[in-house]
Amino acid sequence: MHYDIAIIGTGAGGGTLLHALAGRGKRILVLERGGYVPREKANWSTRAVNLEARYQTREVWRDREGRPLHPHTNYYVGGNTKFYGAALFRLRREDFGEVKHWGGVSPAWPISYEDMEPYYTAAERLYHVHGERGADPTEPPASGPYPHPAVSHEPRLQQLHEDWAGLGLRPFHVPLGIMLDERNPRASRCIRCETCDGHPCLVGAKSDAQVVAVDPALADPNVTLLTDAFVDRLETSASGREVTRVIVKRGGATETYSADVVVLSAGAINSAAVLLRSASDRHPRGLANGSDMVGRHYMGHVNSVLMAVSRCPNPTVFQKTLGLNDFYWGSPEWEYPMGHISFVGKLDAETLRGGAPAIAPGWSLDLMAKHSMDFWLTSEDLPDPDNRVTLDREGNIVLAYRPNNETAHQRLTAKLEQLMKQQRKCRVHGDECHVGLFSRNLFLGQRIPLAGVAHQNGTARFGHDPRASVLDVNCRAHEVDNLYVVDASFFPSSAAVNPALTIMANALRVADHLKARLRI
Ligand SMILES: Cc1cc2nc3c(=O)[nH]c(=O)nc-3n(C[C@H](O)[C@H](O)[C@H](O)COP(=O)(O)OP(=O)(O)OC[C@H]3O[C@@H](n4cnc5c(N)ncnc54)[C@H](O)[C@@H]3O)c2cc1C
Ligand code: SF4
Repeated sequence: MHYDIAIIGTGAGGGTLLHALAGRGKRILVLERGGYVPREKANWSTRAVNLEARYQTREVWRDREGRPLHPHTNYYVGGNTKFYGAALFRLRREDFGEVKHWGGVSPAWPISYEDMEPYYTAAERLYHVHGERGADPTEPPASGPYPHPAVSHEPRLQQLHEDWAGLGLRPFHVPLGIMLDERNPRASRCIRCETCDGHPCLVGAKSDAQVVAVDPALADPNVTLLTDAFVDRLETSASGREVTRVIVKRGGATETYSADVVVLSAGAINSAAVLLRSASDRHPRGLANGSDMVGRHYMGHVNSVLMAVSRCPNPTVFQKTLGLNDFYWGSPEWEYPMGHISFVGKLDAETLRGGAPAIAPGWSLDLMAKHSMDFWLTSEDLPDPDNRVTLDREGNIVLAYRPNNETAHQRLTAKLEQLMKQQRKCRVHGDECHVGLFSRNLFLGQRIPLAGVAHQNGTARFGHDPRASVLDVNCRAHEVDNLYVVDASFFPSSAAVNPALTIMANALRVADHLKARLRI
């Protein structure tokens, strides 16, 4: 079957692009390897989601040494946004330029923040972002307010917010894509529960790509979604200049489709894998890979989850409301960027059992979970050509990665430890309330650090120079006229805030380019 447009993958990139192109008279084929996340009580079970990994792929990849890797990633309509924490940040304006880090240089993007700004605004509207403009000192200039008011803090986080403000810092409310209406709780779609980050939303109130983008697009009879449709490879015309066949494995059979424009959006690792699998006489190193850049510069952020345990309990239900970027660009004592501090969803004992932290003397896991504030720290991961996706002889994904910029992350952790010791005296325990910071090892047992690929990006960077990048500024492959990539692959640098809003905004930018190209 021939279509006007084929989109591969329905996550932050593909789902958003589909939404922008649907309803304009073009026949669009959407190919998604997964199905719908089943709606069931287990959606909100921390045991099912975190311990049993009920929704994660069972695929096995390999690391650089050939050891098996069980990736923490999800194949469903909506992609990883079904499970994300919906913290929807813009990159900082300076992130689009070259930035000097302790661990090396973060390269400039081929477009400026100003080029992206209107699309950030549109993406914030589409994904119902709740936030407070002007509170985050590193926030870039925006052409309008957030579409919805910030999500309020619960008392323990409000107290910490005030403590930090009292120290002269500028804590802020994290921009969140949840459909919460605090002024009208009875009508609010979101019920503000504790199982949001990492879980699918049972009541469809999280702004994920399925709910917000794919489902509405399917109202257009010209849109055809095929689920359980695994794109194996792309084949080109004899010249190698255009994709002519999309080879799909579906229900045990091989099917072939074609489209005037093919948009790959399978996630940074899987998109690289599709391109590498599509090697041919014209593209011997993989499709669109004359530069040998496909799969290289894999980035995933330098992340950690740290539990600050206090003698006072932390009864917070929805914990992801507070952020701190005062050390994003460094501090008076250290001139290099450190990164971003915010929260993960509230950890419970069940979740901790899957990756137990060092237990504080005299504490149980259950008690620690009830008394912890659970921080999420992100430092920038720098692009290294040797951190890369390749395929082994059987065609399995191999992910080779060596961490970098770790000193920045250690500095950030030390800052947090210092801040926790400077909290106001508590009425019950005085200055003794803070017990300490405990690192939660998310990856015990069969899970190892490399498996945490939630923030994967950078494997098909965009740029002006075809020798140093895979995609041009419109995210079109330099070497293939009708092939685009709109997932997180295009990032030339990873910055240190969560990636999804930038993927969504960029998909809207590329959609504008495609509308002009297709005259729709
Ligand atoms: C637990 C968790 C929490 C997160 N929290 C946040 C957060 O708070 N804020 C934030 O900004 N980001 C967060 N992220 C990251 C965010 O979800 C991703 O950055 C984003 O979803 C990536 O978008 P994408 O379009 O690149 O890929 P994806 O969303 O992964 O979409 C890729 C799609 O392609 C499909 N696919 C893959 N291979 C093929 C193939 N061969 N054929 C057909 N289809 C294929 C997949 O099934 C999937 O639907 C989180 C991620 C996780 C896992
Ligand atoms: S109800 Fe709200 S807080 Fe709970 S999972 Fe859904 S969007 Fe998240």
